[in-house]
Amino acid sequence: MPSRRRVPSFAYAVAAAGAILGWDECGCGGDCGYRWFDEKAVARVVAAGPPTIRRGKHERGAISVLRSDDGGSLLVVRAPVVWGDALG
Ligand SMILES: [Zn+2]
Repeated sequence: MPSRRRVPSFAYAVAAAGAILGWDECGCGGDCGYRWFDEKAVARVVAAGPPTIRRGKHERGAISVLRSDDGGSLLVVRAPVVWGDALG
């Protein structure tokens, strides 16, 4: 069962601890695919500080945190979210 916590500071802490990230740039929920960031790329995003979740025309942006069985973390970020230079 994936966590539904969306607090930016929580997502930031998870990303800082090491995670991969799927960026839903258009906010459609992933229908047209995610842009993937590996742990190295996520570390660069994290260096910019915590994310800001924005309100879009229809829906708020969102960050979902999922954990795999082996203890890895996956962040799914739905636009509009601003996070460093890479997301936003
Ligand atoms: Zn899309």
